[in-house]
This record gives sequence, C-alpha cells and structure tokens, in this order.
Amino acid sequence: MSLLVVGSVAFDAIETPFGRVDRTLGGAASYFSLAASHFVPVRLVGIVGEDFTQKDEAIFQGRKIDLTGLEHVAGKSFFWSGRYSQNMNERTTLATELNVFAAFQPTLPATYLDSQYIFLGNIDPTLQRSVLKQIRRKPKVVGLDTMNFWIDGTPAELRETLKHVQILTINDDETRQLTGEHNLFRAARHVFKMGPKTLIIKRGEHGAVMVHKDFVFSVPAFPLEEVHDPTGAGDTFAGGFMGYLTSKGRINEQTLRSAMVYGSVLASFTVERFGVERLATVKRKEIVARARQFARLTSFKL
Ligand code: AMP
Repeated sequence: MSLLVVGSVAFDAIETPFGRVDRTLGGAASYFSLAASHFVPVRLVGIVGEDFTQKDEAIFQGRKIDLTGLEHVAGKSFFWSGRYSQNMNERTTLATELNVFAAFQPTLPATYLDSQYIFLGNIDPTLQRSVLKQIRRKPKVVGLDTMNFWIDGTPAELRETLKHVQILTINDDETRQLTGEHNLFRAARHVFKMGPKTLIIKRGEHGAVMVHKDFVFSVPAFPLEEVHDPTGAGDTFAGGFMGYLTSKGRINEQTLRSAMVYGSVLASFTVERFGVERLATVKRKEIVARARQFARLTSFKL
C-alpha cells in the first residue's frame, strides 16, 4: 500500500544556537517522505525549479520514494529561512520565497490516481482539495497539516477541505486559532464537527497529544541530550505517523497509538542534526531500538 504526500520541496537556510546552514534540502514533503519511506512506498507530489539538481534528488533515491509526481519547471525552488531563539522554543521566519511554488497546481501522474492513503502537507487548502478531487476512489485515510497563514487567510476554503479529512495534525496555537477555543480538549470537539475524527496536536519539545472521540493518547518527545535543529520535526512526525498507519492498513486505537510513537521516534532523529542530515542516515535498527526505549519510557505499574 502506497502513501501519497503533497507538499513543499525546498531549500532552507537555518540558524540555531548550534550553527547555521545557508542552503540545505528542506520542505515538508521532503521530511515527510524520508520518514514515511521507512514503512511504506511513498508517492511524492511537489514542484522544484532548475536549481534542484540530480545531486539534490539523490537523497530520495535508493528509498521507496516515487518522484514521478515531482514537477521540474523553469525558475527557482521554494526557499525558506528561519532563525531559532537561544532556547530553540521560538522560531522567526526570515524569508519565504515561494518562487515556483507560487504557480503550483498539483497534477497527479496516472500511476498515483489509485492512492488510498493520502497526506495533504501544509499548502493552500484549495490545492489540497484539488489533489483529493483527482483520486479515483474514496481514500481510506486522509491526513492534513496546515498553519496560521491558511487558518486566518482562507478559512472558508480550509473548512471545505477539512470535510474530507480524517486526521488533522497541527500545533497547539493553530488548534486554538482554528476553533477559537483555548482548552485543547474542548477545541478537539470543535474539530470533530469540521470533519476530522482524530486531532493530533504537535507540541514540540513537549511531544504530541492525540485526541479522538473515544480516547486521548499522549507521547513525550524522546529525551535527547543533543538537539541541534528542530526544523522539520512536525513534518517528520507526520511522515512516521502516516507511514506506520498505512503499513498496518487498519485504523484503530492500537494502530493510532503505535503510530504516535513512531512519529515521535522519527522526529527525534531529525532534530539531532541540521536539515534532513540525520533523517537521511537513520537505519531501521535504530528506529526499532528507539521505539523500544519509548515503551520503557512510558511504562509504569498501577
Ligand atoms: P516544520 O519545522 O515542521 O514547520 O517544517 C519546516 C519546513 O517547512 C521547512 O523545511 C520549510 O521549507 C517548510 N516551510 C516553511 N514555510 C512553509 C510554507 N509557507 N509552505 C510550505 N512549506 C513551508
């Protein structure tokens, strides 16, 4: 079973208290695909410019990542630049240059049209919906990520897209902004009325909380002694989560809980190094070992 993702493929400039990089491969779909491909074949939908060379593409090769849906056009790739505060809890966006992304109209290759597991990365909600419209059969699961820019800027379009989504992954501020409700568990009830049946609230170094009509499950961030760059943690989490879920082919409380752990495990590797550096080298064995440590971390006797 393949997992389709649409989202940004970018070059990032990142500055953290541990150093800086001027140009490294980034973008939500890059982090997502690298993480998810540990579990299932991924079909990527995105757009890049002429500055995206074979060398950049090489990072996706030798993995189960289908790039047929990665459009190459004239112009420059999406560029994003951000700086983290001393404690890395705050991030200032220094530049967002849409470049080729500005005219992006996702077109699915014929080989993607039977996709049943779909993740709509953080892009214009109308474009997210246009991806769903191209899918031949009603998908089994649709996950979606969004951000304050779309929650504020295109609320009606986002609401329309959310009607077709089962799993929403956003952070706590975005949850409050979307629902107008401060308490996250009450906010979840608002979200359920919009369409999604599961809300995953990403909370950075505090982990993630999953709220479902029948249960709540919370995972901490994996305890790390070295965090060098939080960029892409949320997208990596989503990739690990959706990848695991797709590999199981069943959505129930148990698979959702385990998916939360695998999302956190994958994200813990991403933040150890800049950009996708660590995520690109992590081995299956290391993922499994960290998932085991997670089980110990959260187990206790009543
Ligand atoms: P995260 O740290 O999970 O928020 O993801 C950061 C990644 O998202 C970076 O690699 C950026 O290239 C990408 N990104 C930043 N802003 C946007 C945006 N407005 N639309 C799409 N992708 C973005």
